[in-house]
Amino acid sequence: MRSHYCGDLNRSHIDATVTISGWVHRRRDHGGVIFLDVRDRAGIVQVVFDPDLADAFATADRVRSEYVIELTGLVRGRPEGTINANMPTGEVEVLGKSITVLNAAKTPPFPLDEYSDVGEDVRLRYRFMDLRRPEMQQKLVLRSRITASIRRYLEDHGFLDIETPILTRATPEGARDYLVPSRTHPGEFFALPQSPQLFKQLLMVSGFDRYYQIAKCFRDEDLRADRQPEFTQIDLETSFMDEAGIMGITETMIRNLFQEVLKVDLGNFPQMPYSEAMERYGSDKPDLRIPLELVTVSDLMAEVDFKVFSGPATDPKGRVAALKVTGGAELTRKQIDDYTKFVGIYGARGLAWIKVNDRANLPDGLQSPIVKFMPEAVLSQLLDRLDAQNGDILFFGADKAQVVNDALGALRCKIGEDLNLYQAEWAPLWVVDFPMFEEGSDGRLAALHHPFTAPSCSPEALKAKPLEALSRAYDMVLNGVELGGGSIRIHDESMQHSVFEVLGISAEEQEEKFGFLLSALRYGAPPHGGLAFGLDRLVMLMTGADSIREVIAFPKTQTAACLLTQAPGEVSNEQLRDLSIRVRKPVADA
Ligand code: ASP
Repeated sequence: MRSHYCGDLNRSHIDATVTISGWVHRRRDHGGVIFLDVRDRAGIVQVVFDPDLADAFATADRVRSEYVIELTGLVRGRPEGTINANMPTGEVEVLGKSITVLNAAKTPPFPLDEYSDVGEDVRLRYRFMDLRRPEMQQKLVLRSRITASIRRYLEDHGFLDIETPILTRATPEGARDYLVPSRTHPGEFFALPQSPQLFKQLLMVSGFDRYYQIAKCFRDEDLRADRQPEFTQIDLETSFMDEAGIMGITETMIRNLFQEVLKVDLGNFPQMPYSEAMERYGSDKPDLRIPLELVTVSDLMAEVDFKVFSGPATDPKGRVAALKVTGGAELTRKQIDDYTKFVGIYGARGLAWIKVNDRANLPDGLQSPIVKFMPEAVLSQLLDRLDAQNGDILFFGADKAQVVNDALGALRCKIGEDLNLYQAEWAPLWVVDFPMFEEGSDGRLAALHHPFTAPSCSPEALKAKPLEALSRAYDMVLNGVELGGGSIRIHDESMQHSVFEVLGISAEEQEEKFGFLLSALRYGAPPHGGLAFGLDRLVMLMTGADSIREVIAFPKTQTAACLLTQAPGEVSNEQLRDLSIRVRKPVADA
């Protein structure tokens, strides 16, 4: 049918007769001449129909936006003065000779030929139309180039693409499972994998040595911002490699990818211990493009006559930290109020601040609701520690360390964005030396990564002081986004038992849930480790999209539904009977 893609036509095709197929992007009638912008996945080209070819002209006259057409014509240079520098094909046009309508189209639910502020609901309901928009096409094309580059790299480095099951048992990654009822085993359920974690470990036990998969994962989470219930990982596992080896090979993979697809050199990735990331940035995925840092001032505030500060300053689980914004004394009251509301989202009960107007003149040179509580000596030490200058503002967080880190860590990013403080376009790093466990509000321990991650201490030390144990995990972070994470795994059965024990998983439960893994560890499991990248986030960053929904062809909404297919949906009683399931609808609150 077609001889060329519309978007590929340029001066080198002048005088060629071409056949193109695609959609009518726009139709204009200019004093007896009809212009059609014809679009396909490569781009848009302008086609002109003159009235002297009556049949073709009549057809061109009746087509409407989004009709599917095929046409043949002669490529010619555009006359001087009509060249469109904004269009890749803007130096040429096609003089239409014949045109066939392959299919008509209803009026689109939203215009595709100009920007229009359509709600995401409508876009998702008509996703097949939304995806016709050139910017959406470009994102999915780039996504395909990204996965192609990664596959190429991994294949060249001896990784084997091996599929793992979708109908399986729970693979704990900290979310709820999506369950699938079994018809042949009434009352029993499969779980969709939260990741291929246990299967890839079993593949190492089987000797495959280097595995990868571009794998769908499923997590039934309370949907926080920008998560999808099903998402894609670039999942890797290797045997006989340590952290340095795995981090090295995957760092090179990402560096190559950026070089190949974006022509960007990411350079070498620095490494930072988790404790330092939390101390300086309040986050385990610090955005290093922003120069602001948190500074602990708990010791200075222990004695002040201000409970809001002295309380957390003397609480072993508390923290008082300050964030200096250079030149921030210019922030208005309204901006500060907005930041106070913002930190409230993270549990902070307020946002204390000090504007440094004249540092030589203490305390009067400081403008703040809280300086009156602080002796001059404390103020002076505070300003020294933060190297505060006239014109700066200091923000404070004082609470449990986690609240302070979450609140000031987020504020740091928000201010960085609002004041455009970015010092680099790309800032990658590795975060290492994570704790093995974190303590939930119920006092129970949970694995920070997952329970198959190897600790860097002995089983005895792990059991004696679990909260002090570090893991052999590593995360790759780019611009404040966790791109991927992984670890060296436990390959020793007794260590795996110890971790389960610390997590409060009884011996029976261990056998019931993870018997197959424990069994594999008994039959010659090699030392192994791996990592998984979130493909959607990677593509989001590389395309500059502001949500992962923009880089997934058919995403779900924030409430985990598909507006296009209306999934999830009800099923017939017959199907339920086959599955031995009776549905009890939640009773509405009275
Ligand atoms: N399975 C892990 C995850 O999904 C990644 C890994 O440890 O390889 O986060």
